[in-house]
Amino acid sequence: MISKFTDIGIPEDVAKAMDDMGWEEPTPIQVNSVPLGLQNIDMFAQAQTGTGKTGAYGSIILGTIDSKRKVPSAIVLVPTRELANQVSTELTKLAKYSGHRSIPIYGGASIEGQIKKLEQGCDIVAGTPGRVRDMITRKVLNLSEITTLVLDEADRMLDMGFVDDIEFIMRAMPSERHTMLFSATMQENVKQLAFDYMRNPKEISVSQDEVVLDLTKQYYISVGRRNKSWALCRILDLDKPKAIIFCQTKKMVDVLDERLTDLKYKVEAIHGDMPQSKREKVMSDFKNDKTDILIATDVAARGLDIDDITYVVNYDMPDDIDTYIHRIGRTGRAGREGTAVSFVTSEEEHLVKEFEMRTGMEIVKRDVPDAEPGSKDTIRKVIDYDQISDVFGMCKFEINLGKKDGLKKVGLADLIIKNARIRDVSIGKIELGSESSIVEVHKDFGNRMTMDLTKTKYNGKQIRVRVIQD
Ligand code: AMP
Repeated sequence: MISKFTDIGIPEDVAKAMDDMGWEEPTPIQVNSVPLGLQNIDMFAQAQTGTGKTGAYGSIILGTIDSKRKVPSAIVLVPTRELANQVSTELTKLAKYSGHRSIPIYGGASIEGQIKKLEQGCDIVAGTPGRVRDMITRKVLNLSEITTLVLDEADRMLDMGFVDDIEFIMRAMPSERHTMLFSATMQENVKQLAFDYMRNPKEISVSQDEVVLDLTKQYYISVGRRNKSWALCRILDLDKPKAIIFCQTKKMVDVLDERLTDLKYKVEAIHGDMPQSKREKVMSDFKNDKTDILIATDVAARGLDIDDITYVVNYDMPDDIDTYIHRIGRTGRAGREGTAVSFVTSEEEHLVKEFEMRTGMEIVKRDVPDAEPGSKDTIRKVIDYDQISDVFGMCKFEINLGKKDGLKKVGLADLIIKNARIRDVSIGKIELGSESSIVEVHKDFGNRMTMDLTKTKYNGKQIRVRVIQD
């Protein structure tokens, strides 16, 4: 069988499995890396998730190692449990006709079950560095026959502090071997790793316009912390996306999960503190469309390979470009279009410019979608004093009192201090008008201005306060 896959040297049995998986032609990273890899040339490749990198090193492994020995000949190190599972699953699919057996090894799940699988024999191990090291120390994993090592998402493994484990694992295998390193970024410590542990590696990079981000439209919405859930519900109600929502902390994931569940949205949450069994259930529900909305932290959602995600929402904007790219790489996969929306507070707007510069792509400003006519918001928009305050934290309020009421600036300030329980240092400039005045008050006291002051009368006149929001 001649196909575009066999054209680049992929063995026929692997190409046949790719055909079964619905793949039509190799991706750029596959075209660039497979012919070299099949000649056992070491390489370090800059490739993000979604570019087909697993298929690239997977075909190299399957094309270069024997399938009958059932002692580990190749090992793939990855940063997370989910990725270990995912890589092993993809390798198993690719090996449908070649018969290679691969198994995942990762922490947080019963070690006995994994040991049993190892004892049954395998050709490829896909594992996280900590658990793999553990298995070597327990002498249940023998790496003395390894001929191929893949370091996948090397940058993230180093960021997560796995360097000692990785070096330990490398010492447990023959130094005469084929090594391939894949990384979304080529930061200094990644280059160092490549330099220290590879023989004349070839550098491969897939140019920006070839990566999958191309199919992802990137937007940002200017919204303060207090109105993020309002904005999110509008998006969920109107666009009905299959979405991953990223939060910065586990706590925020839990809070949002609870809030949306209370409002009867069908959501599930995933983060590193949950037991592995629960995480696997959540992932499979999301994969099988039992839930359409997954709320996640970065670590938990890393490397997730789900093709039909239409939306990525950065509920909290990440402050580094790598995380941003990894998150939005969850959508726009396998030739489908995707949308990434980032919620950006006024203090975070500078990140938008920075990320645009670093990715060379535009992040378009958009508004929160309009509600359907006649429909009610599940969460009401509130005034976000953080968002409307100036650099000194001051917000402007219009009060229906002025010179005509016989007031001077000092009198008006006293009235506010007394009735709204605000300290004088928290009151800024006062512009006294004849019928109404503009007063600056610190954002922390915004609610007291609109709630407490309006319960008061001045010379029999009901006081009214309006927040100036422009
Ligand atoms: P990865 O970058 O390895 O996470 O792969 C991203 C997605 O693309 C996975 O769902 C792969 O199964 C899929 N994929 C990899 N190579 C190809 C290809 N040549 N054609 C179509 N889909 C592919």
